[in-house]
Amino acid sequence: MGSGSLPGCRQVRVKAHRPVVGRVKTLRLKREARRWYVIVVTEQQPVPQPATGREIGLDVGVARFAATSDGEVVANPRFLAAIVSELAAAQRGVTRCRPGSGNRRRARRRLAKLHRTLANQRRDFHHQTARKLIDTCDVIAVEDLAITNMTRSASGTVQAPGRNVAAKAGLNRSILDAGWGQFLAILLAKAEGAGRRVVKVNPRDTSIICCRCGARCARPRQDTVLCPVHGGMDADLNGACNILTRAGLGSGRAA
Ligand SMILES: [Zn+2]
Repeated sequence: MGSGSLPGCRQVRVKAHRPVVGRVKTLRLKREARRWYVIVVTEQQPVPQPATGREIGLDVGVARFAATSDGEVVANPRFLAAIVSELAAAQRGVTRCRPGSGNRRRARRRLAKLHRTLANQRRDFHHQTARKLIDTCDVIAVEDLAITNMTRSASGTVQAPGRNVAAKAGLNRSILDAGWGQFLAILLAKAEGAGRRVVKVNPRDTSIICCRCGARCARPRQDTVLCPVHGGMDADLNGACNILTRAGLGSGRAA
């Protein structure tokens, strides 16, 4: 807890989620449901971190949060599964109550609180994950999200299931989808602050071509690709390697 004053306001107490680092540029107040937030934008001179010699491709998954081209797996956080069922229950609670009733209002508040909790936990997870990657990598190649969103299909085909095919409900999927954009924004900001490089590549076919020979693979399961030459491979790892190669990094085949 800290405290401060704003023009026209009394002294207010604030709960700081993260320490404020750098020179403060702007302060913004935002109201969400019944809570107020202070959004602090700061300016920081980049502090270049020492070179690590590590360059990776990073691929987003569904069963996993992400995988790196050198074999590191970032698992989905445990809170995700737990909160998805809680959210579903809270959503049912809202629809069961009569519109305009007090119960309905309370149920909606409960639901909003869960969404807030999820958003906070997810953001913390994104900050921690991005921090680890920035500390251990010089260059990180990722799919260009703007292009990804345009091209990737929600359903896919039997041969090449879309990456969005979530194992569970649409709720689960929307939670994961919302997460990746925020994570990339956090990763980019931290990269800038640390003098690291993030390279965005065209995501076309990165999930379905073999990273060793470029042949088109079959995808018998969501987590496996099958190259006619090289056989079965982990789908996320293969994707991450393709992303690395496409960024002109690593020793792989030029894609
Ligand atoms: Zn191959």
